[in-house]
Amino acid sequence: DVASHKIRLLEQSPAVEGQFSHFVESTDWHAMTQSHQEKTEQDVLRALSKSKLNVEDFAALISPAAEPYLLEMAAKSEQLTLQRFGKTLSLFAPLYLSNTCANECTYCGFSMSNAIKRLTLNESQVEKEIAAIKDKGFDHILLVTGETNKVSMPYFERMLPLIKSHFSQLSMEVQPLNSEEYKRLQTIGLDGVLVYQETYRRKTYLEHHLRGNKSNFNYRLDAPDRIGQAGIHKIGLGVLLGLEDWRTDSVMMAHHLRHLQKRYWRSRFSVAFPRIRPCEGGIVPKSIITDRQLVQLIAAWRLFDWDVEMSLSTRESPEFRHHAVRMGFTTMSAESKTQPGGYADDAQAALEQFEISDERPVAEIIAMIRSQGREVVWKNWDPALSHV
Ligand code: SF4
Repeated sequence: DVASHKIRLLEQSPAVEGQFSHFVESTDWHAMTQSHQEKTEQDVLRALSKSKLNVEDFAALISPAAEPYLLEMAAKSEQLTLQRFGKTLSLFAPLYLSNTCANECTYCGFSMSNAIKRLTLNESQVEKEIAAIKDKGFDHILLVTGETNKVSMPYFERMLPLIKSHFSQLSMEVQPLNSEEYKRLQTIGLDGVLVYQETYRRKTYLEHHLRGNKSNFNYRLDAPDRIGQAGIHKIGLGVLLGLEDWRTDSVMMAHHLRHLQKRYWRSRFSVAFPRIRPCEGGIVPKSIITDRQLVQLIAAWRLFDWDVEMSLSTRESPEFRHHAVRMGFTTMSAESKTQPGGYADDAQAALEQFEISDERPVAEIIAMIRSQGREVVWKNWDPALSHV
């Protein structure tokens, strides 16, 4: 059964003691990157024959040696997702509260040196956004902000109760906080926190986070531990595919997931793998992950962890989302606006963080999901209750 599977899987994972930043410091990035090329067909077949995969098995499944097994992996991924989560997918909308930011990230349109108009929504503007989002039918919301003092605890403490009174699930993707702050926000409605590491290679991280608090690599890296210590219900991890070798970053994220699962077993976990998108002043990716490789990565994640929630954003094209929807995902965003005020006022497009790729309206996304034999769940969705 799922619970005993989870326990056996955690027992088999490599011991990672102490804070995760210590593990990252002691990892030889070059050796790990080289090891992907050395994986053999036997490594792949061994991983495919197991029901409890360790991180080495995951590394084999995302290696070039696994490419001939893509169809088999995709089919297995779909079957496991059906077993664990049923035929349902949950839809969410990101709500951008502010595009002010005191950081300089090379890949982001909100970077402080970009000469764009800045806006932090006040209560009445937030209410307009809520009404526009509710109008589309969403009940799960992801709050997103840049990172400044202006959008820190006092602002969150004002906005969360207002927003939570309209939605059943509320997650945040904002600046990393300390454990006490996360605990406080949980008491006023916070259900989940996403903190994407972007890349696990310190050298590359520092090349892309040039100024501001986000350039503190370790503080960000240890944020998921602080979220777990605060007892937050759901913790989200992610890397920005393209900043570094996508395989090595994914293997590091798999280690990170196991590290957290061992310690915060009451929390649920989600993973996301956004690819770099065009934006104001954006960069050329260092490593390109093709559509086929992204499918391989998605399938490998599901085979590696039956329980992890997986999220597919509107960064991906309609064609890709159409084909990927059955593979392993549990949540999707739809008709997203990546600028503050964007749902209630189309004129705010100049403020967006990045260009989205799938701009179809919610009704079309729902029709697409149904055409793939899946059903959309809007309210109070709990995967533990949705076995087929
Ligand atoms: Fe600011 Fe986040 Fe964009 Fe960096 S990625 S510039 S922290 S909004």
